[in-house]
Amino acid sequence: MKLRFKVPLLSVGILLSATLALGALMLLLLRENVETEVRLRARTFLDALAVRATADMASGRIDALDQMVSNLAEHNLDQLDVRFVQVLSPERRVVAHTRQFEYGTIASDPFSVEATAVNRQILREAFRDGQQILLVSRPLVTQIGNHPGVRWGTLVTGIGLDRLQRVLARTLIGVIGAVLLATVLAAALLVVVLNAQIIEPLRELTGAAASYGRGNLGTRASVRGKDEITLLGATFNRMADTVESHTRNLESQILERTRELQTANQLLAEANARLRELATTDGLTGLYNFRHFEATLRTETLRADRLKAPLSLMAIDVDHFKEFNDAHGHPSGDLALQRLAGLLRGRLRSGDVICRTGGEEFAVILPGTPLEAAVGLSESLRDHVQHLTLKNDQGIEVGTMTISIGVASYPGSAMDAAGLIKAADSALYRAKEGGRNRVEAAPRSAPPEEERS
Ligand code: GH3
Ligand code: MG
Ligand code: MG
Repeated sequence: MKLRFKVPLLSVGILLSATLALGALMLLLLRENVETEVRLRARTFLDALAVRATADMASGRIDALDQMVSNLAEHNLDQLDVRFVQVLSPERRVVAHTRQFEYGTIASDPFSVEATAVNRQILREAFRDGQQILLVSRPLVTQIGNHPGVRWGTLVTGIGLDRLQRVLARTLIGVIGAVLLATVLAAALLVVVLNAQIIEPLRELTGAAASYGRGNLGTRASVRGKDEITLLGATFNRMADTVESHTRNLESQILERTRELQTANQLLAEANARLRELATTDGLTGLYNFRHFEATLRTETLRADRLKAPLSLMAIDVDHFKEFNDAHGHPSGDLALQRLAGLLRGRLRSGDVICRTGGEEFAVILPGTPLEAAVGLSESLRDHVQHLTLKNDQGIEVGTMTISIGVASYPGSAMDAAGLIKAADSALYRAKEGGRNRVEAAPRSAPPEEERS
């Protein structure tokens, strides 16, 4: 059950019980007062009658006594709530009665028996003729000094209690009504005060906590006044500040680390790419290195097999390069090798794979190129190289160079990649032997490419 219902219900319960208890106590006191008043009235009434009755009984004037009691009945005894008056002889015979027909009978009810037997006044409540009455007796005694005196008879009266009960019932209804009204008013006031002072601030605070819990880190409780709930709100706000600043710090740290990680990853990727490049290229000329040459030649021979296409290989070597170095210096030799690489790159197709396989040695894989075309291309390259004007590192012309080329084709000149290299090398050897600045083709050991099916 929610606090906004629980607290008022509990308060109403407590208020109702407290006011009911108070009402009951008031009623008890009231009843006590009224009863005392009725008893006092009965005694006074009997005392007033007793003087005449004792005298009449003592002198045997029963007629006069009966006359007096009968006269009483004609007066408005109801205003005093007196229901009846009777005088009993010591033998309990009714010698006078407000109701004529009782005269001369023997009163045998328990009260009359008791009242005539004892020497003092007694009071008893009894239920007679459909109503509650108070029975009061008074011994009729003639007393002289401290002597016990002579008992002539007993005076008995019955006082009706119904008027008293009606008064009490009305009071009871009034008290209950007042209690209920007071409780309802007090409960309404309590609900209003509790709502404004406790329930609403608490609801606001729980709302703020719930919103914070859903991740709205900017949520804060409103802080008004100086009571405990406000204190709780202020504490919650301080806690929220701390958690929020920690979270923001953490977020910025994560962002920073992520950025660092991204940078590191990028550097790593670049380093890997550079490493791959270094692993396959030659530092001086930028051409592919020997490792790449070998691997490519293997895959190209397999591809030539699959496509049944021709494949040729050039083995190039610079002539007398040692002498060039000796004459112009090693740096000029490097520049010459770079010029040669540039010429090869400019004159060959993009599908051709140009490699630097040794110091002044180069190889070119020509996929889809038959031997004759490769020989023609080699002649053209050789011719262009000899007309290349070379410069040293100071930009001064240092003459020219020549190259020798051995050309072989697959599968015309060899059965596999290794055989193809060997065949091209042999042709190159022959070109050197033949006087250098020459192109030599490997002899055919298999039918030409056009005849492959
Ligand atoms: P041949 O015509 O018989 O090929 O004579 P060669 O002098 O070219 O042959 P050799 O094998 O005797 O000498 C190769 C020379 O190439 C030796 C070396 O000085 C030079 N060389 C090799 N690599 C480089 C290089 O990277 N830079 C320079 N500048 N020279 C190199
Ligand atoms: Mg060489
Ligand atoms: Mg050489």
